[in-house]
Amino acid sequence: MKIIQIPLLRDNYGYLLVCSKTNKAAVIDPSEGEPVLKRIAQEKVELQAILNTHHHRDHTGGNEELLQDHKLDEVYGHKSDAERIPGFSRGVDDGDEVRIGELSGKVLFIPGHATGHVAYLFGSALFCGDTLFVAGCGRLFEGTAEQMHGSLSKLMSLPDATKVYCGHEYTETNLRFALTLEPKNYKIAAKYEKVQGLRARGAPTVPSTIGEEKETNPFLRWDSKELRETLKRDYPELPMNPVSIFAQVRKLKDQF
Ligand SMILES: [Zn+2]
Ligand SMILES: [Zn+2]
Repeated sequence: MKIIQIPLLRDNYGYLLVCSKTNKAAVIDPSEGEPVLKRIAQEKVELQAILNTHHHRDHTGGNEELLQDHKLDEVYGHKSDAERIPGFSRGVDDGDEVRIGELSGKVLFIPGHATGHVAYLFGSALFCGDTLFVAGCGRLFEGTAEQMHGSLSKLMSLPDATKVYCGHEYTETNLRFALTLEPKNYKIAAKYEKVQGLRARGAPTVPSTIGEEKETNPFLRWDSKELRETLKRDYPELPMNPVSIFAQVRKLKDQF
């Protein structure tokens, strides 16, 4: 299995997932067509399918151009999004299997950012769109804090070594925000320093791992003593349960 990260639009990432045995490939979240087509030609892989994590235009904007150029087996998306994903042909839901060449992936239903949001898990590679970012999470456009908390908990239950291939390069701002909640968390501080170095030379900060996210992502840290103390100090009325803590962190990030 080979994963090729393709920077798209301003800060999106699309991914080519290639079955090394058969040379068949899928593209995950093609924001636009041209750079993806170029990369497919360069890599000389055979595009078999599009895997969309959700319907937003910056994740599906290239679907039509790819379909014009290639005969694809399927365009995947959550079963509720037939009307919203261009070229949609195969609806999937939690636990479904997706095959690309000889690779087999599993679908995880993770609503919150969008009602029909899914992740695709191939081996230890998680393609999670705009649900989980490096040190962040997606805005609650179509879902509730409770749903998003459930979706993030589901992703946290994956093995620590699982690689997080998310949909955007937002890490630097996310970590700056994380430090306002846990200024003494040296793991966040160290990661922020590393990430600033990477971004200064235009290098990606994605992928991360589930293990790293559990240690540095404020949207997964409802159990952190320091984060709870910061919130208690600023919002003494806030109930100290995971969902309200998550909801408050999300609200603060929206205003950051
Ligand atoms: Zn989105
Ligand atoms: Zn997006």
